[in-house]
Amino acid sequence: MGPIMPFAEQACPRLSVVVPCYNEESVLDMLEQRLSAACSDVFGSDFEIILVNDGSRDRTWQKICALAARNACIVGVDLSRNHGHQLAVTAGLQISRGDLVMIIDADLQDPPELLAKMVAKIEQGFDVVYGQRIERHGESAFKRGTAAVFYKLLNRLAEHDIPLDTGDFRLMTRRVVDQLNAMPERFRFIRGMVSWIGFEQAALEYERDPRAAGETHYPLTRMLRLALDAITSFSTLPLRLASLAGSIMGLIGFAMLGWAVYRWFEDGTVVGWTSTVAVVLIMGSVQLIILGVFGSYLGRLYMESKNRPLFIVRDIRAQTRPDGYRLP
Ligand code: UDP
Ligand code: MG
Repeated sequence: MGPIMPFAEQACPRLSVVVPCYNEESVLDMLEQRLSAACSDVFGSDFEIILVNDGSRDRTWQKICALAARNACIVGVDLSRNHGHQLAVTAGLQISRGDLVMIIDADLQDPPELLAKMVAKIEQGFDVVYGQRIERHGESAFKRGTAAVFYKLLNRLAEHDIPLDTGDFRLMTRRVVDQLNAMPERFRFIRGMVSWIGFEQAALEYERDPRAAGETHYPLTRMLRLALDAITSFSTLPLRLASLAGSIMGLIGFAMLGWAVYRWFEDGTVVGWTSTVAVVLIMGSVQLIILGVFGSYLGRLYMESKNRPLFIVRDIRAQTRPDGYRLP
């Protein structure tokens, strides 16, 4: 008879893989095959794949249930509605128990086969290995362009560095995941939060493939929202820009006043209806823009202060999870 292990310890797999799924029924079979193969190459059967259904409108959940019924490594999690990519990942992370946790998209844009290389880096002593895209196949020039501008801007603004051109595709140790799970914020930009946590982090370069099937869920508006979340979560610089803008406007105003007084002494007239209107309009718009910046921080503060749960789980399907689930 082997040693008697505490229940919870016995039940923890060495690896958890978290996969957010929104309308991904067309890729799930392919995903299960490639991901299971990549995981068992390294961990045998000592891993779990957590498929989080983020309120899909197609048959993604039915598909996940079918997969969970025939594959003991799969844990299906059904959220009560669409909570968004970052919160779906958050749900998966909270439910995960592995010593190592990988986050990967469902659409196979990030190759699961990189797991072995990531594990090798972790064994060298890193706590986080994140995928860094050196090439993006099948993504429009527009998407690549906006992503480049966004990462530049974010790095300018953020008070600490967030690596360029990364997604959420990464492998982390348990202590990093525990820290991440202890961060209560609602507007989550996970790649930024992980880099904020620190420890030793390493990049692994890879070429991003086109989507295996289905279509992107990040149209321009969603990308903009993620970008705003990222900037407001990691920088208070826009708030402080108000005083900068105020000073510049003030200087310009004084310069114009000086000019007007000079003209008045020179020829007794002050022509200036146009410039008056211009000043009024510019000042008005600057003030409104700054008010808007304040508003976007205040709004987030308000939403955070409600302290609602980040996500709601409707159902969990798995063949064996003997320690039960501690759901939020
Ligand atoms: N996703 C999600 N909830 C959403 C939108 C997307 O869980 O509301 C998942 C989606 O299923 C995929 C990942 O997030 O696994 C990334 O989405 P997508 O591939 O559409 O983004 P892109 O790769 O085009 O940036
Ligand atoms: Mg994708």
